[in-house]
Amino acid sequence: MVDPYNLEECERVVKEEIEKEEPSVIISRRPCVLLKYVKPKKPLSVNPEKCRSCKRCMKFGCPAISFRDNHAVVDPTLCVGCGVCAQLCPFDAFEGGEE
Ligand code: SF4
Ligand code: SF4
Repeated sequence: MVDPYNLEECERVVKEEIEKEEPSVIISRRPCVLLKYVKPKKPLSVNPEKCRSCKRCMKFGCPAISFRDNHAVVDPTLCVGCGVCAQLCPFDAFEGGEE
């Protein structure tokens, strides 16, 4: 079982299972943020001073992330604070979140 918000763990487990000879199942488990009892975390934001416009975070397809004035921006009304974008950014440009 993996947490889909943990990219490192997901990648490691997928690689491990692909290398096995026998069939295997990976259960990706995390409650949907649209459920009433799931409380979103604080939204993240992009520090424009740190963003190097590589667009790596945009390949993930999060609807809260867009590109403006040559850097990524997060729409705080759409961000649920999952933190996946922060794991993808090679320049630590994402800030905030948690709680
Ligand atoms: S991954 Fe980081 S540096 Fe690259 S565009 Fe996104 S916020 Fe900017
Ligand atoms: S924290 Fe999650 S929801 Fe918010 S911008 Fe990053 S990937 Fe999108």
